[in-house]
Amino acid sequence: MSGRRWLFADQLGPHFLDDPGQPALLVESRAAFARRPVHRRRAHLVLSALRHRAAELGDQALFIQTGTYEQARAEAGGDLTVCAPTTWAARRLVARLPGVTVLPARGFGTGEEEFAAWAGRRGKRRLLLEDFYRDARTRLDVLMDGAEPAGGRWNFDGDNREPPPSGGLTLPAPPAFEEDEIDRQVRRDLDAWQRSGDVRLTGEDGPREFPVTRAEALTALRAFVRDRLPGFGPQQDAMLAGDPVLAHSLLSPALNHGLLDPVECAHAAEDAYRAGHAPLASVEGFVRQLIGWRDYVWNLYWHFGDEYRDRNALRARHPVPRWFAELEAESVTARCLSDALAQVRAHGYAHHIIRLMVLGNYALQRGWDPREVTEWFHANFVDGYDWVMVPNVIGMSQHADGGLMATKPYVGGGAYINRMSDYCADCAYRPTVRLGEQACPFTAGYWAFLDRHSARFAGNARMARPVRNLERLADRGQVVAQEKERGSDPP
Ligand code: FAD
Ligand code: SF4
Repeated sequence: MSGRRWLFADQLGPHFLDDPGQPALLVESRAAFARRPVHRRRAHLVLSALRHRAAELGDQALFIQTGTYEQARAEAGGDLTVCAPTTWAARRLVARLPGVTVLPARGFGTGEEEFAAWAGRRGKRRLLLEDFYRDARTRLDVLMDGAEPAGGRWNFDGDNREPPPSGGLTLPAPPAFEEDEIDRQVRRDLDAWQRSGDVRLTGEDGPREFPVTRAEALTALRAFVRDRLPGFGPQQDAMLAGDPVLAHSLLSPALNHGLLDPVECAHAAEDAYRAGHAPLASVEGFVRQLIGWRDYVWNLYWHFGDEYRDRNALRARHPVPRWFAELEAESVTARCLSDALAQVRAHGYAHHIIRLMVLGNYALQRGWDPREVTEWFHANFVDGYDWVMVPNVIGMSQHADGGLMATKPYVGGGAYINRMSDYCADCAYRPTVRLGEQACPFTAGYWAFLDRHSARFAGNARMARPVRNLERLADRGQVVAQEKERGSDPP
């Protein structure tokens, strides 16, 4: 036995204990919820997952429901061990509390030491996802045939990322999870806390859609591998108005609560490929997300340091407008954006391309303050944790790090959204129009963004062409003036 293990709410799977009988400490801190607004569904998931784990562990766990972590630590007494928490703030907290031994983090395929060793080997070269991913595939022996990648290729991106099929995807619904008395009590508590002003909840309530126990998480993983993995690759970047999930896994909350380990998910996908159940392009695409992107983002969070969240290379200073902050989908005419906001309000979930190319893209084009944008994403998504939000928003989505993470900004006009979705057909705007009544706000916003930053991006090999195209626009000045006039009004 190795002492009592403190389990944070994102450390709930069996692999956070050294042995199944190890005594545990679980803390439900009201103060942790009071810090910022939080989507009702996210608050429900966190509380439900913690309370379910406490119930599962029974007498093995000391479950303390209190104000702050400091109070809980004092109440718990004795010595504690904890797997390194996932945020800068929580690591500072456990470092200053007495009698707490901090162990290496768990729940990721590539640990911080392995990442540092890899980054060291890169020397002054860029820390590219593709290189990181290949190193991880080899080290973790995922989708490898000896020293070679399965199928002779590392990357199947070229075979993936197709537009949505006309008529949509006909996949079974993702598994539903039956709520129990713990869920009902969570709901009653959240109602009471909201009434007393102890928490500020956003979004809508509804039946729980994501796993809160290890058993439910395994059910979700098996259902994904069976039903969605075969189509995962081709539809990765597609968006459909009537289908928020497509072939995505919906596994991020279970992964981020520590109920699933990314390497076990990658192995489950590989087994499906080896058994002939899923094509290599889809399996590779999924594995890339997990032991590639997820672990890369986790490690960049530490590598870039705590000040990374304050980066604002594009000097974006506009506040996030109220209609966006309040998820007022009805006040938005632009179909893609209205649909995305309604989806976030209802589910606390939108898949990657909606986050990046609709919600994030709109914020980037308008020059909204990246810290506020990070807060917005953090508050409104069921899978929002600091380590994953900060690099994804500051680096990938808002280009606020000036290109440390992504060599070019993820900014796009209506043509991209039109190609990858079915939104535009029913929209009041036209994706090809940039000026006048029917001007698509994404298309006009794209040119206004380039106009604002043309000097910076003229020297960027991947942006030089768009900047040259901007210089050829006869109506450039009018488009920019139109966008200024739109200001922070809903589009
Ligand atoms: P799938 O498409 O099925 O992908 C499988 C898994 O890969 C995901 O569950 C996730 O664990 C992992 N993954 C894929 N891309 C990334 C990535 N860029 N970073 C980290 N993990 C990744 N993901 C979060 O888990 N929490 C967040 O708070 C979060 N915020 C984001 C904010 C922005 C602006 C953007 C652009 C992306 C964000 N992501 C975040 C990454 C990604 O969008 C989500 O992980 C994914 O959409 C979750 O849905 P899914 O489980 O159906 O994913
Ligand atoms: Fe979105 Fe523009 Fe298409 Fe309308 S026309 S759905 S605003 S991309």
